[in-house]
Amino acid sequence: MNTVNNLSLDGNAAAGLLSQVFRPEATGAIARCGACGAEGPVGTLLLYGHGMGAVFCCPRCGHVMIRIAHLREEVMLDMRGAASLRLRVDG
Ligand SMILES: [Zn+2]
Repeated sequence: MNTVNNLSLDGNAAAGLLSQVFRPEATGAIARCGACGAEGPVGTLLLYGHGMGAVFCCPRCGHVMIRIAHLREEVMLDMRGAASLRLRVDG
């Protein structure tokens, strides 16, 4: 018996939680660099924009933290370069 499968839900169960993370005020979210550990608001990261999207880099060490790409009708978010992202929530 696999107890992990018995306790898990699909991602739709986290819709309310995800809506707290992905919102217009995300530039105020605190991002932690996955390379050097520096923390700061997303709005202070170095931004390199291009036709397909944007690349956000750590202002301390230059590590690529976040990539956003427009791919036809989708937006792809790659945050593997960020150790964490913290947002203040109401209540
Ligand atoms: Zn860094």
